[in-house]
Amino acid sequence: MTDFAATKARFHLPEGVIYLDGNSLGPLPLGAAERAQEVIAAEWGEMLITAWNKAGWMDQPARVGDRVARLIGADPGTVVMGDTLSIKVYQALASALEMRPDRRVVLSDSGNFPTDLYMAEGLLETLGADYELRVVAPDDVAAHITEEVAAVMLTHVDYRTGRMHDMAAITETAHAAGALALWDLAHSAGALPVDLKGTGADFATGCTYKYLNGGPGAPAFIYVRPDHAATARPALSGWLGHEAPFAFDPSYRPARGVARMRVGTPPVIQMSVLEEALKVWDAVDLDDLRVRSVALCERFIAGVEAACPQLALASPRDAAARGSQVSFRFAHGYAAMQALIAAGVIGDFRAPDIMRFGFTPLYIDATDVDRAVEILARIMATGAWDRPAYHRRSAVT
Ligand SMILES: *Cc1c(COP(=O)(O)O)cnc(C)c1O
Repeated sequence: MTDFAATKARFHLPEGVIYLDGNSLGPLPLGAAERAQEVIAAEWGEMLITAWNKAGWMDQPARVGDRVARLIGADPGTVVMGDTLSIKVYQALASALEMRPDRRVVLSDSGNFPTDLYMAEGLLETLGADYELRVVAPDDVAAHITEEVAAVMLTHVDYRTGRMHDMAAITETAHAAGALALWDLAHSAGALPVDLKGTGADFATGCTYKYLNGGPGAPAFIYVRPDHAATARPALSGWLGHEAPFAFDPSYRPARGVARMRVGTPPVIQMSVLEEALKVWDAVDLDDLRVRSVALCERFIAGVEAACPQLALASPRDAAARGSQVSFRFAHGYAAMQALIAAGVIGDFRAPDIMRFGFTPLYIDATDVDRAVEILARIMATGAWDRPAYHRRSAVT
């Protein structure tokens, strides 16, 4: 059994704060700041350029990728780190489309995160007018997987509502129609067990600053199914994805496996922080995590529904169809969230009316949930949210 009191003790959480936004930016793991300092002073400072070899900087994207692989049900050697998620989505889609040269449709859903859709739009525009991004309602995806579709590009867990797609079923339907399945795991990696290998997903991507606690700007990951990794052409053919970067060959030859999805110089300091942050997962069983995540979400839903009649559940009621977050709709959700944050409970707001709460068993327990419900109930019952200061919008919501 995973000891979640022990994992909680491995994070710095500000005094008096209940942090229900680890689905957006995970908190600071203990040891991360020291690790960054060590990389800066002992590696960069003392080893200078020799650290690329001596401190293992060059292998870091693959080494850290192996740590992430375990969390998403992938084999070692199938995941590589670098860049941001938007870039990785672009790379995965570009490679996938080349693998289906006679098809022109990318199928996605209206619950997808905007940047995924924007990156697809941009790529398709470059490829030509005959390409089409077809966006349907989340529940209609399976019915729209036709033989025109080259790639089904979805985010596994909806960032707004927490609704979760059936990855195995959709991947199977996509394959039956001759399409490829691309999964964005931004709200899945570190949130629940994922079985990339078992589902046969073709490509997967995700970020590491949410449930994986790598810090703001932590590098993203990309998974390529091993049988595609030797043939998928990288659209962003950077020198570190070359088979022999230090041959300085004037023409590009992709590296053999997923390493071809590397582009340029990795963010070493940030990746070192991530590497440190990922150590906590060595002591975590993902099935235990899921059981606890479901229990925390159910407890929150029951508490809020009993105490806050103004809020309407926006997440699926069925835990099996939900990720590790709970969202409620409220017309004045922005102001209510600001009032909640002022009272020490940090969640976030997603336009137009969603109050979003992430439940992260590594550092959130039942006592935190009860306390959060109590504070939210007080704010709603007293109308304390309805102050001008709470209605004023900041750039980041
Ligand atoms: C958080 C998130 C992103 C963010 O992309 P970045 O390039 O890291 O800014 C992209 N897609 C999804 C589905 C997300 O949840």
